[in-house]
Amino acid sequence: MRELGTYAKNSWCPGCGNFAILNAVKTVLREIFEGGECPSENIVLVSGIGCHAKIVDYLNINSFYSIHGRVTPVAEAIKIAKGHLKVIGFAGDGDAYGEGLEHLIFAAKRNIDITMLIHNNRVYGLTTGQYTPTSPLGFRGRSTPSGTNELPINPLELMLASGATFIARGYSNRMDLLKDVIKEAIMHKGFSLVDVLQVCVTFFNLYDYYNQKVYALKQHNFSDYNEALKKIREWDYNTDAPVALGVFYKKDSPVFNEKFTVKEISVSQRKKKVREMLEGLV
Ligand code: SF4
Repeated sequence: MRELGTYAKNSWCPGCGNFAILNAVKTVLREIFEGGECPSENIVLVSGIGCHAKIVDYLNINSFYSIHGRVTPVAEAIKIAKGHLKVIGFAGDGDAYGEGLEHLIFAAKRNIDITMLIHNNRVYGLTTGQYTPTSPLGFRGRSTPSGTNELPINPLELMLASGATFIARGYSNRMDLLKDVIKEAIMHKGFSLVDVLQVCVTFFNLYDYYNQKVYALKQHNFSDYNEALKKIREWDYNTDAPVALGVFYKKDSPVFNEKFTVKEISVSQRKKKVREMLEGLV
């Protein structure tokens, strides 16, 4: 069995919710490999910029460090070029819901078969505590010492409206549920997004708040769009409403990447093409 840990020294703060995501992903990948659902060499991880991004350093799986806001297009490109791979993107809330939001919307609209795991700690942790698109109104951080004047976005509502075919929420302090939704998202055929409430203990410690508010969805009809919307709207990332965890929406739909046929060419053919291109320039 492949060892999933690496020699990289972990530099997350003690108590950070990223540890839970790392452990959940490790458990899920182990189950997938042992169950023969996908060989380890067919998994590719993509991360962005932020505390979350280090997760790929701690997993012994093929990975690609992309740049801020660009996890989704890199994951999409890998999937289009090599359709047999399972591509899992990791992004922070600032990364995916701020700079990278338009990519996320179009990936959902296309229903490309990738999984996006969002480490949503609702603060920029790596840059020491600025507000993000999901910080609540009045959030006092390094860039807003008097409190923000903006309401947060509800990313799951946006994903539903954009056409995502799998939408779920997990919490870094509810491990079993987190593992279940991550596995289901990875195995889903089509665009899947899991918004993980990942607590940043250093700059926005929401453990007490979430521990009181979260509950697991039960008897929820995830194939019903209107019911999903109702549950997604129950908590808008700003009010004190209960916070539902689990799968909100799921449906089967044709996937974008299967509409392409990418012609595989050998290295020597590729070199020949480059040579011809260069010769054409002179
Ligand atoms: Fe985790 Fe926050 Fe520390 Fe970053 S700053 S490692 S998100 S606790």
